[in-house]
Amino acid sequence: MLDIKDKIFTNLYGFESSDLAAAKSRGSWDNTKSILDRGRDSIIDEVKKSGLRGRGGAGFSTGVKWSFMPKEVTKQHYLIVNADESEPGACKDRDIIRNEPHKIIEGILIACVAIGADTAYIYIRGKYYNETQSLQKAIDEAYENGLIGKNACGSGHDVNIYIHRGAGAYICGEETALLNSIEGKKGFPRLKPPFPAVIGLYGCPTIINNVESIAVIPDILRRGASWFSSFGRPNNSGTKVYSISGHVNRPCNIEESMSIPLKELIEKYAGGVRGGWDNLLAIIPGGVSVPMMPKSVCDTVLMDFDALKEVGTGFGTASIVVMDKSTDLLYAIARISKFYMHESCGQCTPCREGTGWMWRLMTKLCQGDAKISDIDKLLEITKQVEGHTICALGDASAWPIQGLIKNFRPYIEDRIKQFNN
Ligand code: SF4
Repeated sequence: MLDIKDKIFTNLYGFESSDLAAAKSRGSWDNTKSILDRGRDSIIDEVKKSGLRGRGGAGFSTGVKWSFMPKEVTKQHYLIVNADESEPGACKDRDIIRNEPHKIIEGILIACVAIGADTAYIYIRGKYYNETQSLQKAIDEAYENGLIGKNACGSGHDVNIYIHRGAGAYICGEETALLNSIEGKKGFPRLKPPFPAVIGLYGCPTIINNVESIAVIPDILRRGASWFSSFGRPNNSGTKVYSISGHVNRPCNIEESMSIPLKELIEKYAGGVRGGWDNLLAIIPGGVSVPMMPKSVCDTVLMDFDALKEVGTGFGTASIVVMDKSTDLLYAIARISKFYMHESCGQCTPCREGTGWMWRLMTKLCQGDAKISDIDKLLEITKQVEGHTICALGDASAWPIQGLIKNFRPYIEDRIKQFNN
């Protein structure tokens, strides 16, 4: 169990104020100038050594990503914080934004110095209205107290921060669609390469980081890389905010160590599965875009990038959706398919057409009004979409269905047999 002294987000539940004075009393903005004075290379090295992997889903090393920015600042450099949290099941950034906004603002300042940027945008989900207010208040306080703006914290660096509210499209959480959205264009993902670190916002080098990745930066720099990397397994280090929802007794967000056993996490913090652990049917561990796992895997699996990859699923945003035996798995996955069909931007044919085909076939399977061979047809469609699209939404629409077929094929066949009897 993570000791209270090792928690980064001590006000995750908002029991205390989120204002500057309270944030300072919790350790934020403590001699930030000395961190900035360490300089660009030293900050990036420390973040690399900490082993921090991006908390937005892809899990790429944050320090390595920062090191891709050109060393010579010949053009404007930008930092963008992705606060467009819209994946069903994910709600961790929301609590960080509304209750710990100063951790984000301080993290932005440090990150800007590390990548040579003087301008940062926070792209926030439009529906997060109250969270936007909390963030804007923190930005205003930071300006008033000289923590950001001209000569931020007396460091000689100028850093300005702006909030940009999204208009509700899930795809704008994809980093290049997000860039287009800020530029006032349609939220269409861009082909990569070029990657944003080379050609990003307005054609300038840009780093895009998730809220949680940025918010843990001040603590990593203050407490040291070795402190952060002492949690979790090698290559999966640090603490993490997990969101636990679905059929548990107490849905919650909880900060714990990486690599904690999934069962321990649910039983200790979420009050256990409704009806007891044996009533568990399946869990989606990383937001609804990753494949589900049957109970037999959930019994022992660890919550980290490598452990979940080994069992055929993904860590994603660590947004755990628990489904007990009362769940109709076919309806659950059909609903997820409908979501991806609705959110496809329509640029690539496999995604635009495939998400509709997948949803229609899933709908037939819900009733059982299908042939056994339709299961293989559905699987084939997912393979035609997976890996054949511009952005990861194609994969995200395919993987939940693949997880269902891989782990619960007899369950689907029973439904078809019942209908045809
Ligand atoms: Fe748009 Fe889907 Fe292609 Fe992504 S995969 S660019 S959402 S059509």
